[in-house]
Amino acid sequence: MTSTANGTVAHRRRYDVIVVGAGMAGSLVAKQLGRQGWQVLVLEAGTGGRETWEGHLDAVETFRSAVAKVPNSPFRRNAAAPSPDVLDLAPDGVGFTANGYFVQNGELPYGTDYLRAVGGSGMHWMGLCLRMHPDDFATQARYGYGRDWPIGYDDLEPYYTAAEREIGVAGDAEEQRALGIRSDPHDVYPMHKIPPSYVDEVCRSLDGHTVHDPVAVEDFTLTVFSVPHGRNSTPDPRYAGGLGYRPTGAVGLPNYGERCVGNASCVPFCPVQARWTPLRTQAEFADCVTLAPRCVVTQVINGSDGRIRGVEYRTYDDPESAASRPYRAEADVVVVAAHSIENARLLLASGLANGSGELGRNLMDHPTMLTWALTSADGGQIGPFRGPGSTSGWEAFRFGDARAARAPFRIEIGNWGWGWAAGAPMSNVGTALGVGGDREGNIVSAAVFGTKLRHTLGDQIGRQLQLQFAMEQPADRDNRVTIDDRYRDAMGNPRPVLTYNLSEHVKKGIVAAKRVASAIYAQLGAQEHTDHSPRDGVAPLGYFRYRDQDYTYAGAGHGAGTHIMGGDPTSSVVDSFQRCWDHPNLYAVGCGSMPSVGTSNPSLTMVALALRSAEQIHRDLVELHRPANLSGDRARAGGSVTITEVHP
Ligand SMILES: Cc1cc2nc3c(=O)[nH]c(=O)nc-3n(C[C@H](O)[C@H](O)[C@H](O)COP(=O)(O)OP(=O)(O)OC[C@H]3O[C@@H](n4cnc5c(N)ncnc54)[C@H](O)[C@@H]3O)c2cc1C
Repeated sequence: MTSTANGTVAHRRRYDVIVVGAGMAGSLVAKQLGRQGWQVLVLEAGTGGRETWEGHLDAVETFRSAVAKVPNSPFRRNAAAPSPDVLDLAPDGVGFTANGYFVQNGELPYGTDYLRAVGGSGMHWMGLCLRMHPDDFATQARYGYGRDWPIGYDDLEPYYTAAEREIGVAGDAEEQRALGIRSDPHDVYPMHKIPPSYVDEVCRSLDGHTVHDPVAVEDFTLTVFSVPHGRNSTPDPRYAGGLGYRPTGAVGLPNYGERCVGNASCVPFCPVQARWTPLRTQAEFADCVTLAPRCVVTQVINGSDGRIRGVEYRTYDDPESAASRPYRAEADVVVVAAHSIENARLLLASGLANGSGELGRNLMDHPTMLTWALTSADGGQIGPFRGPGSTSGWEAFRFGDARAARAPFRIEIGNWGWGWAAGAPMSNVGTALGVGGDREGNIVSAAVFGTKLRHTLGDQIGRQLQLQFAMEQPADRDNRVTIDDRYRDAMGNPRPVLTYNLSEHVKKGIVAAKRVASAIYAQLGAQEHTDHSPRDGVAPLGYFRYRDQDYTYAGAGHGAGTHIMGGDPTSSVVDSFQRCWDHPNLYAVGCGSMPSVGTSNPSLTMVALALRSAEQIHRDLVELHRPANLSGDRARAGGSVTITEVHP
């Protein structure tokens, strides 16, 4: 790999492929094509450095010293390549204000962020790696809502297996098969599942109990299932027909990360690097892959024949200033892999790929309703704040005909107490000391100190149970990313303008989820403290009122749908290989291509799609009479690129 600190790439030859973005999807495509010997330039808008031990420690320290522990806390602000932040949103009466990178003009807030830095949002993701269920690919045909995929589960199955190998997923394949998520009966995950938390074991006491869903008018049986994770546990010797699993690092390459030791800070940062990040993939780039950080792509350049010629980009030295220099690079194939929202923003700014009028539309997420409760003092402590954010869930509400009546949802059993819902444990400390309010249900009102303070905190925090209900959000053309000349970032690039709302189907799912939550707490003998109501005229963020009840939801970080895939160029942006219908040598890869997101966290599906696209790009390049030299000579040759200053 050739990596440059400031984006001034030294070599001066045309590339086979330019990849825009060194996040999850871009890094995988670059690695796969580099393996085939193609000359690949990866232009990355953000800064790097966290691939070194010193850089890693700097991020850990930045996170430690941040007042608010949110996904982007470990990463310094970057004026040249700004990122949205969950702290940009604030409640305002019963509405909200958005004061950061996103401009928001929708009825409800889009509460999801991402990170523009080497590694992208995979630097702060949770690492849950679920496959989609076969039914998720055809919700319109089966249940009458959303959009169907032009491919199905069986087309993606081998790529799911490859994606799990790439990430080194830890999970229990038997449990997934029991949910109807097909794989070869002998298949196991690369690593054994992450051990269940004590919170999971407490919830498992309800296995076999039933809960009534009043919206779908159906009873569901509760069974706790483990969740597959993109983090190191113990390699399974049965993997690959008994060959076992070795982390992806080949001989001589760094083998990132220790086993998960339950630091309880996976979002945003794993101090022992047990959680997979794209840095592992980048460590395996062949020499013919050049990774250039601090290169903000500003335009994708169209040729007169509809074929893409290359990109314009700007490099900068100081992330605190937007001072930059323009360059141009050319390639046979351009792959935009800049995140679903940034892909749409960049292609809209370039005036490309929008023959269907669908570009930027169908923005999705997994709107997530939080509920919280204190387990009974008699039952003892349940041990939150140990382990990854969630190791298990209740899965029954994801599947079946109930989906026609309301959005399906996945119930994550939270391992981090009321952290997300109420800012625990810091909010508990404030309340116990007599500062801060009690709107999230903290039960101490008079200040306590010393031993009593310790006992109070230990007792309350140790009994905190939070459940996260992640809704499937179907594609909706009115939820969209646009650009507007009035709104630009410091470098002069258009900022994303978002319009977002929740459909009736999703709101019905939230109603059902709230009732299910209350039933579960009642069966556990826990006292529910969920409170979504406005207080003193101010509603919590993500508030809406529906059928005379108050609800709130949060963003999950799962931006999707903005360059939607389909079988017809008049109604979709990319084909099943994520190739833009309007430009045969332009690919838009990432969750933006997904026509539906089911109830699975989307990145494993995105990685599977990226691996499938990389194969097609290889075929395209071979067809262009530029055959790969499989002897590896090209792979060792080193990168080079045509770079011209467009405004010297
Ligand atoms: C808090 C949080 C937790 C999450 N947890 C999970 C989880 O548990 N499981 C799951 O499946 N998913 C999870 N996700 C979602 C996951 O992070 C994303 O789906 C995934 O990272 C998207 O990958 P991507 O490659 O498309 O984009 P990114 O990973 O965001 O990478 C895009 C890259 O492009 C670069 N870029 C952007 N604009 C430009 C430009 N103009 N020029 C050059 N480069 C550019 C960016 O700097 C970045 O490096 C989570 C997200 C968040 C926010």
